[in-house]
Amino acid sequence: MLTNCQVGELLARKAELEKDHFQRALKKAARRSLTWPVEAHRLWAEAQSLQSLEGIGPVLSGLLADWFENPPLVPQVDPLRANFITWSMLSHPWRARGDLQMHTLWSDGSNQIAEMVDTARSRGYEYIAITDHAGGLKIANGLSQERLAAQAEEIQSINHGAPGFTVLRSVEANLSPDGSIDVEDTQAMDLVLACFHSQLRLREDQTDRYLSALRNPRVNILGHPRGRIYNFRLGLQADWERVFGVAAELNKAVEIDCFPDRQDLDVARLELARQAGCHISIGTDAHAAHQLHFMELGLEAAWRAGIPEHRILNFKSAQEIRAWAAQ
Ligand SMILES: [Zn+2]
Repeated sequence: MLTNCQVGELLARKAELEKDHFQRALKKAARRSLTWPVEAHRLWAEAQSLQSLEGIGPVLSGLLADWFENPPLVPQVDPLRANFITWSMLSHPWRARGDLQMHTLWSDGSNQIAEMVDTARSRGYEYIAITDHAGGLKIANGLSQERLAAQAEEIQSINHGAPGFTVLRSVEANLSPDGSIDVEDTQAMDLVLACFHSQLRLREDQTDRYLSALRNPRVNILGHPRGRIYNFRLGLQADWERVFGVAAELNKAVEIDCFPDRQDLDVARLELARQAGCHISIGTDAHAAHQLHFMELGLEAAWRAGIPEHRILNFKSAQEIRAWAAQ
């Protein structure tokens, strides 16, 4: 019986043999297999349409049916696609109190802050952190200092109008290899998430740049630490025990970016983070309100790695998170 994880691998391998439109369709379906709500094999066994699965049209539905009928040998998962959790594997018992990474129309997202708040409330959250990109990241429509200030006003008025719910003021700052960030003034922010966005394909050990980032006193959370992307980029290497050890020592958090094709950190690194004792922040990296449910993938990774609840920021209140970031 083929799992969705194996189907994804077969799709990605077949994509390598094809070209143009068909190749793109195969790659897309491989990526989408991460969030299919049920095992495709089960749909097939129950004679239900496979075309209810995202990325699967008539042609790929026939291909999957052939595979289920006569299961091919599935090669070992390529490292580019290894250690991703698929939606149908979810089994954790947890509920987050809030989400700590998302983007809005202010940068490269597609919803207003108020729309993110509505969806967050419908998920039972007490807070969200708005982490639009900052100035240095031009491709993501990064915010200047002036626009960050204008956004702060909008957040303030939303917070006034939404008792019992808190929009935390944050940012996804861009980290330079020397650990500096592209936001001039972070004084008035509730917390600062910072990420590397360049030189993400280097194969040499990158421990030094992680340590520089963690030692920047303005950085609270190291976001999508490895920079890996499913079927696209492996992610950076470092002496993770050392990196997480320094994070614990400096009271910083490392992130689980829940976006399905990121899932960064993964379970193996999270086990090292657990041993080091640093805080974990979980953020969906949602670029639209309907993506806030990606939270489940991050909770699953933390749960599988055995991270104690008191180390996970998303199980704290908004006030506790503010206090943690301020110290
Ligand atoms: Zn980013």
